[in-house]
Amino acid sequence: MNRRRFLEASGAAASAASAYAAASGKPAILGGAPVRGKSFTQWPVFDETEEKALLGVLRSGKWYRGNGQMVRKFEEQYAQLTGSKHCLAMANGTSALLCSLAALDAGPGDEVILPPYTFVATLNVIFARHALPVFVDTDIETFQIDHRKIEAAITPRTRVLLPVHLGGASAHIDEILATAKKHNLPVLEDACQSHLGEWKKGKVGTFGTLGCFSFQASKNLNSGEGGAVLTQDAAILDRISEFHSNSSSHHARTRRAGIHDSGLNLRMPEFQAALLLAQMTRLETQSQTRESNARYLTQLLNEIPGIAPARMYEGNSRNAYHLYMFRYDRSRFSNLDRGKFLAAMSAEGIPCSRGYTRMNKEPIMANVLASRAYRKIYGEKELEQWRERNQCPANDRLCDEAVWFTQTMLLGTRSDMEQIAEAIRRIQRHAGEMA
Ligand SMILES: *Cc1c(COP(=O)(O)O)cnc(C)c1O
Repeated sequence: MNRRRFLEASGAAASAASAYAAASGKPAILGGAPVRGKSFTQWPVFDETEEKALLGVLRSGKWYRGNGQMVRKFEEQYAQLTGSKHCLAMANGTSALLCSLAALDAGPGDEVILPPYTFVATLNVIFARHALPVFVDTDIETFQIDHRKIEAAITPRTRVLLPVHLGGASAHIDEILATAKKHNLPVLEDACQSHLGEWKKGKVGTFGTLGCFSFQASKNLNSGEGGAVLTQDAAILDRISEFHSNSSSHHARTRRAGIHDSGLNLRMPEFQAALLLAQMTRLETQSQTRESNARYLTQLLNEIPGIAPARMYEGNSRNAYHLYMFRYDRSRFSNLDRGKFLAAMSAEGIPCSRGYTRMNKEPIMANVLASRAYRKIYGEKELEQWRERNQCPANDRLCDEAVWFTQTMLLGTRSDMEQIAEAIRRIQRHAGEMA
């Protein structure tokens, strides 16, 4: 198509000339005009609804769950939204996970199974309980914990299975529950990235003994900081409720006299709950937008050789798309390394990241396992064997190949998705010049 026909075809808008330069031109990193000039949707999204909600709490003078109504109201609504019997709000997602491990009595000498491909909080809560993390390799196709490898990692000391629903998609819940049942182990779902995610007909986070969510600023439901635990078990609810409030009967649900256990103060403030109630009015619509844009993007990216979007398991009926993740095969890009690909994408106005690093090989592992407490609890020999038990070759490869877009990039229009695909195709055409 020549320039004049292109301009006619594109409606000859004022921007058509630059669109032509962009579509036909060199990659921005080699001096061409970027595919995209404007930024993606700003996050957080808010208006007077949030202002009113926050001012309401401020003026009421009731700023904590002990005298306010907002946290309780949020718990009711989040339970209703997820179809969970019980919900307890928390200070943040890390607290929710920590509280859950405490409620399951996971502690020194116990092993907790988790994926290496996750945010470090999933690991830190295990360390906070002085339990031993055991990594199960990643399914490179889906980016989730490889459920087929969980059973081999179970020992008599395994106390909890802690799968993560990564990026808003779901780990293979049916298989994980079956393995857990066979070995009589509780499942703690880290659903911190999976608000409104679904497995078959149920919401992610409601299948395990406990399910944890985060409302930290980057998450799809956002109150700056915040978290929640879901459970279907009233006895467990009582335990997390006491634990999250210093085990004082004062704010716990149970209100039994005396101090029965150790705990912490992990309570959610009223302001956070008010903000969440306001943000929740947008959640379903935003989720639908992300989902339809992500579907379209997958369709476009599936046509580009060397780009492999993360697959979803058959039962994963709804993806929350906290992240849009794919694998980048440099051999289809004239061997252009991933770092240069990321830089070239950013130059096109399409920000992206490499995602997680190899958690099982990060210095945190050697350092914590060498600490006085861990040497005392587990002994040198067992800690030496830990490294052999925790090799994750598929995850190693994934950490070299992954590319992520954030959820906010999915909140725009279909043409945003087309620009993302166009940037990748353009880099591919010119990869030889950049490699
Ligand atoms: C965000 C996140 C957490 C921790 O939540 P915070 O609210 O930041 O404490 C835990 N696990 C995963 C997978 C997360 O993405």
